[in-house]
Amino acid sequence: MAELIRSAMEKNPSARILVLQNNVDLIQQTARILPGYVTTYCAGLGEKIQAHAGTTVASVASMVRAPELKDFDGILIDEVHALGDSDYSTYKKILSRFGNAKVVGFTATPFRSSGKIYGEGKFFSRVCFQRSLLDMIDEGYLVKPSLKHTAEQFETKGLKVRMGEYAMDDLAKLAADTVKVKKQIAEAIPRLADRRSRIWACVNIEHCELVAREIPASKVVHSNLSREERDETMRAFRAGEVRDLVFVSVIKEGIDIPRIDAVVFMRPTRSPTLYVQVAGRGLRPAENKKDCLLLDFGGVVANLGPLDNPRVREPGETKAQAEREKPQFKFCPKCLEYIPIQSVKCSACGEGFIDERLKNLTVKAATGGGLLSNDPVRNKVTAVQIELHMSQAGNECLRVTYQCGIIRLHEYFSYQHDFAIKNWVKRAHELGVPYRDNLDDQARQTVTRVPREIETVLDGKYTKVRKLFFEGN
Ligand SMILES: [Zn+2]
Repeated sequence: MAELIRSAMEKNPSARILVLQNNVDLIQQTARILPGYVTTYCAGLGEKIQAHAGTTVASVASMVRAPELKDFDGILIDEVHALGDSDYSTYKKILSRFGNAKVVGFTATPFRSSGKIYGEGKFFSRVCFQRSLLDMIDEGYLVKPSLKHTAEQFETKGLKVRMGEYAMDDLAKLAADTVKVKKQIAEAIPRLADRRSRIWACVNIEHCELVAREIPASKVVHSNLSREERDETMRAFRAGEVRDLVFVSVIKEGIDIPRIDAVVFMRPTRSPTLYVQVAGRGLRPAENKKDCLLLDFGGVVANLGPLDNPRVREPGETKAQAEREKPQFKFCPKCLEYIPIQSVKCSACGEGFIDERLKNLTVKAATGGGLLSNDPVRNKVTAVQIELHMSQAGNECLRVTYQCGIIRLHEYFSYQHDFAIKNWVKRAHELGVPYRDNLDDQARQTVTRVPREIETVLDGKYTKVRKLFFEGN
C-alpha cells in the first residue's frame, strides 16, 4: 500500500488521498515508511487536524469526529478483513461525505471465519487485484515459510466451535495445561536454536505469562500492559535486544518486523485470517534470512492447509463440501515438514518415503518394485509455464510447469520421437500455445489458456499428468 501511495503521489502531486487505518501502530508505521508524503491525523496520538495536502493517514475514530475533512479523490482502507458489520456502517457514514471518491480496501486475507469478505451484497463487491503469496516469494518480496509438525500438538478434536472459531473457554482450558505447555516449549527450544527472532502466538494473557515463564529472557505483549510497556518491548524486539516475543493478538496485523524468522503457534485456530496474519509476520525478507520456520502446536496447518491457499469455510457448507475441501497434507517423518500428500520425496530434507495412502496398492515386480497408484489426484492450477530443459541424459526437451498452490508439477516433451511430438502438439493446443517445430522457438511461446485443474497419477516414482480440466468441462 505504501508503494501505491508513493507512486500515486509522484504521478499526481495534487491528488488528495485519505488512508484509513484502525490502529495507532499502523498509522505510525505508515508515517515512518513514507516520510514527507503524509500527514497523520489521529486523536489517539494527540494530534490536531492539519491542512490535508497530499496524503492524510487517519484513524477511523478521528474521521468520524472531523466532518471538516472531506475533499479526497481516493480513499484507501487498510486491513479490511478486521472490519466487523458495525465498522462497515461507520465507514459508510464517513464515505457518504466524499461523493465520488474511489474506495479501495487492502488485506492479505480477504476472508473471515464467516467466509469471504467480498461479494454480492457486501461492502466490497469484488477483488480488483490480487497477488499470490507464491509470486511474492518468487519475486523476493517475501521469504518461504517452512511449516513443521510437532510431537506435542494440542488435541483439537471435541473442542466447541462458536462463530467459526474454537470456543474461547475450551481454548483456555487447553492452554491452562501446564504440563503440556512445558512439554511443547521443551520440544520447541532446540528446534528453534538457529532462529534469531521468534514470536509465540498464545490463547490468552494467562497462557502468555505461562509460556513466557518457561522461555528465559522472553518478553510478553498483551492488553494488560500499559501502552509504554508494550512500546518499549516492541522497540527492544525490533532492535534484536529481545529474542522471544510472546503475545496474544496485539501484534498480529500489519506490524512489520522483517527479522522475525520463527513463528510458533501455541494455540489452535480455525480462522484462516489468524493463521495467515500471524504466520505472515515471519515472511518479510531480511539480511541472512532464507526462510521462516513455523512450528505448529495447534494443529493449524492440518486444519487449514497451505499458507498460500488456506481453507475458507463458507456459511452453510455441507459435510460433503467440508470433506472435499479438507487439506490434503502429510508431514515428513524425518524433518516433520508438512508436504503435499502425493509427495514421494520431502521438499525440505530430501527424504524419500512411501505415501501412507499407497501402502495397500499393488507392487508390480515387472516395474522393478515401483509403486503404482490408480488413485488420481486433482490440484487447482494457478499458473502454467513452458521452458527449455536439459534432461539427465543430456537431451534438450520442453518442460511444462503447472503451479498448484505450493506444489509444482512438471511435464516433459521431447522432440526426438514422433509420438512425443504428437503428445506435445495435443497439449500445446489445449494450453493455447502456438506450435513451433524448433525447441528454442517453442520455449519462447506463452501459454494463453490456463487449466482450472490438473489430474495426476503416480506412475512408478513419477507423477504423470493424466488430464487437464478447463473452465466449462
Ligand atoms: Zn523432510
